[in-house]
Amino acid sequence: MRQYIAGVDIGNATTETALGLVEDGQLKKCVSGINPTTGIKGTNDNIKGIIKSLKDAAKKMEIEIENIDLIRINEATPVIGDFAMETITETIITESTLIGHNPDTPGGLGLGIGETIRIEDLDKAEKNKAYIVVVPKEIDFIDAAEMMNKAFENDIDITGAILKKDDGVLVNNRISKVIPILDEVEAIDRVPIGMPCAVEVSQPGSCIEFLSNPYGIATVFGLTAEETKQIVHIAKALIGNRSAVVIKTPAGEVKERRIPAGEILINNGKRTYAAVVDRGSREIMETVKKARNIEDVTGTKGTNVGGMLEKVRKEMATLTEQDYNNVFIKDIMAVDTIVPKEVRGNLANEFAMEKAVGIAAMVKTEKLHMEKLADAVSEKLGVKVEIGGVEGSMAVRGALTTPGTEKPLLVVDIGAGSTDACLLDRENKARPVHLAGAGNMVTMLINAELGLDDFKLAEEIKKYPLAKVESLYHIRHEDGTAQFFEEAIDSKMFARTVVLKPTGWKPVNTKQNLEKIRAVRREAKEKVLITNIIRALERVSKTGNITEFEHVVLVGGSSLDFELGNMVTDALTYYGIISGKANVRETEGPRNAVATGLLLSYLEEAGNGN
Ligand code: ADP
Ligand code: MG
Repeated sequence: MRQYIAGVDIGNATTETALGLVEDGQLKKCVSGINPTTGIKGTNDNIKGIIKSLKDAAKKMEIEIENIDLIRINEATPVIGDFAMETITETIITESTLIGHNPDTPGGLGLGIGETIRIEDLDKAEKNKAYIVVVPKEIDFIDAAEMMNKAFENDIDITGAILKKDDGVLVNNRISKVIPILDEVEAIDRVPIGMPCAVEVSQPGSCIEFLSNPYGIATVFGLTAEETKQIVHIAKALIGNRSAVVIKTPAGEVKERRIPAGEILINNGKRTYAAVVDRGSREIMETVKKARNIEDVTGTKGTNVGGMLEKVRKEMATLTEQDYNNVFIKDIMAVDTIVPKEVRGNLANEFAMEKAVGIAAMVKTEKLHMEKLADAVSEKLGVKVEIGGVEGSMAVRGALTTPGTEKPLLVVDIGAGSTDACLLDRENKARPVHLAGAGNMVTMLINAELGLDDFKLAEEIKKYPLAKVESLYHIRHEDGTAQFFEEAIDSKMFARTVVLKPTGWKPVNTKQNLEKIRAVRREAKEKVLITNIIRALERVSKTGNITEFEHVVLVGGSSLDFELGNMVTDALTYYGIISGKANVRETEGPRNAVATGLLLSYLEEAGNGN
């Protein structure tokens, strides 16, 4: 008997097919299909993506979808993940202290200390005092330079300048002394006049030294030890800047304020544990660990976390047509992060790095809905559709086709929304666990920490290595090696950090340098993926001691990651565990494990398994 059987794995991100030709119960040939998942997993919107994925495979098998005898889709213990970011600190400037302003092209050089004065008032300036001139929009760079030169001739000591327009370099080129000049100060009218002020500009390619050091600021303004304590935030915010200005006003101050972010309440059926969000991710994750078998998670009403968790629940309820009260959050993952946020009360759109907590939540859907979906697919295609096993154990069956693996085997499936692990023992007993947080959360962190506001670019930064275009004929790879080209590189790329996409380079549009972007990328993977792999091992383990495992095989889209393999090896070698990416059916790498498992489990159930 000749049959075509398809295993279809509908993931949060990808719908994968394993299409097999079965003759007399033996698998003769097997091909794969892949397509992005359409709509939210478990809903009828998935059908489009399922058909495309099936078509992709059918083409390789040289058949039509109608020739398929049976389609097996995954059972929906599956999980849907969502995430949100909660800022827990806020920097506020009261009065008009100007901090951390770092324009693209400051002018001049050095450190200038003096009293702020309107440029129009220079003729009233005193001779034995130092001044920082403040130049409004109405005065153009030629006039400003002339006024300053005249003051220099009259022995007025101008030690620095603050400009509204982007004219720093133009003014610098026209005045007779080298002084630090900061430009692009949006709210120049709010710069307080007659106040002690310091302006610092460093050489291109280097960072300011004086104003990023609390004692430097203390020296400039003659601060007491108590006052120095209060300006630590200012100094911290200025680290890494090429230029900065700090003004001391009588009441002005910069404060870091904690935003009350509410509590996360974790219920395990026996009791409810509470974790205070603004204390950071550590406390949240320790509470998650304590609760162990989570029944549901909520947040305090009226707070942002409460709102976010309810939003996840509501969305899932609507999308899966379930009663809101029957949707339960089964796991959360929290990570600490630092995000650039505009400072409240700022004068020049200054940003401060604020502490935030990223939270991923996972909801289990009902089997019922996969059955509905199965019926809908069947009706649409006129092909019999049934529900195969749960994702976890299907992933292990698929992963077992990797050469060099055997039972017992622990497989960790890292997808977009969730990390699913499953241990299959010698007796074919499966122990699956589902954890919130995977590839999407990594992308979210990269997006937020670099202030990109561009999910697609963040996704590309995650997936591909970086390089710096150092000349029109060579680039410097992130590992330090240089690569030369015969033909000139597009001049748009010159001096930019680029993502080396296989389809073409893409410049990264941020002020951060390559090293910073790379560090953020690697840290995000460490915080989410490595943490979740270890969490998965702890959950699957009967003893809670993860050294009981010998082999860990990685599957799922995020396992394709170019640097994750080494990071995992580093992390797990410490525990004496061997780890690596799967090579499903010896050809598919870490892809297609669940789909292949669905196909193989059919053969096993039919009594013809291997
Ligand atoms: P799901 O099972 O949830 O549908 P997948 O197994 O398709 O998910 O994995 C999707 C995730 O894999 C996404 O977060 C995506 O960014 C990530 N991913 C895909 N390719 C790569 C890659 N080359 N490097 C790193 N991550 C990748
Ligand atoms: Mg998957």
